[in-house]
Amino acid sequence: MVDLKGQYAKIEKQIDSKILEVVKSSAYINGPEVQEFQKELEAYLGVKHVIPCANGTDALQIAMMGLGLKQGDEVITVDFTFAATVEVIALLKLTPVLVDIEKDSFNIDINALKKAITPKTKAIVPVHLFGQCANMEAILEVAKEHNLYVIEDTAQAIGADYTFSNGTVKKAGTIGTIGTTSFFPSKNLGCYGDGGAIFTNDDELAHTLKGIVNHGMYKRYYHDVVGVNSRLDSIQAAILRIKLPHLDSYCDARRKAAEFYSTAFTNCENIVTPSVSSFTTHVFHQYTIQVKNIDRNALHQHLLDKEIPNAIYYPVPLHSQKAYADTRYSESDFNVTNELVNTVLSLPMHTELDEEQLTFITSTVLNFIKQ
Ligand SMILES: *Cc1c(COP(=O)(O)O)cnc(C)c1O
Repeated sequence: MVDLKGQYAKIEKQIDSKILEVVKSSAYINGPEVQEFQKELEAYLGVKHVIPCANGTDALQIAMMGLGLKQGDEVITVDFTFAATVEVIALLKLTPVLVDIEKDSFNIDINALKKAITPKTKAIVPVHLFGQCANMEAILEVAKEHNLYVIEDTAQAIGADYTFSNGTVKKAGTIGTIGTTSFFPSKNLGCYGDGGAIFTNDDELAHTLKGIVNHGMYKRYYHDVVGVNSRLDSIQAAILRIKLPHLDSYCDARRKAAEFYSTAFTNCENIVTPSVSSFTTHVFHQYTIQVKNIDRNALHQHLLDKEIPNAIYYPVPLHSQKAYADTRYSESDFNVTNELVNTVLSLPMHTELDEEQLTFITSTVLNFIKQ
């Protein structure tokens, strides 16, 4: 699905010498590389505060801790996402409330969001799934009306631009109260291990979050709040400093591959290609098609037989998972997710796809459909 080796080969010398430099410096934790990366990411995103942490799941958890959410508070998120999003809500003894998504964008359905709000609702966690932003303007309006926090899960959409109806452009993750991301190797900005970060424009909240990631300490050995240990290490920060200047061109390479796929599938009635909402750019963390009137699982297997990696993101709705089942849900609340789990298929998507590979993948898909 990804070609991390090919991408590394292009920056190999820089990476290797930088890793060696960090090793020799012995500043492994919270060293200058972490601080420099933090500043550079703040500048790239146009956000006041970046708080690096250990991974994208921690970033979500720390965001919710920083907002002071309490047991029983309801947090609304989507039924169709990676489980990390809902996991941390449950872990903190908050009440996850799952809602359906839009079929075109795979992102939160605004009407479903509105319907799910109760007096206990405290936060909304939109996930910018597969690389394009959810409808943030509508989400902010709902949040304002009901006095709710907005935590953007930007693990799949770092680098995407959101355009407001007045023309203002903001980076994904810098629009709500807090944004979170992951630097897992296969993400659009991936390090060579685990990593994550939290973004906010709120000075007070940033201060709170900085203590939480460091055992609740604001002064050494004084623990004012219950915190966690969640750090981005210096080697990963150094790698991210080398990769961040390439992020926009990485996103362009992904968009180019997506364009190739979509052009090849234009006249195929059995394939719905990804559509991009008018208010966002798409950074194609995944290129996900929906198939119609053909057996998705058979296509999935056929591509595997031809040694073409492909995956079903996500095969089971969260509301159907044992860990997150809730009697308040009824199946008719999740018509879109219930359909998509049977029709979606994600094709290889990364920065190193060449025309030969793309031609092979698209012709293999089309030949299977023609049979
Ligand atoms: C990858 C991912 C996460 C979790 O990130 P980790 O760094 O693996 O903990 C959270 N949310 C979404 C939508 C993701 O894709």
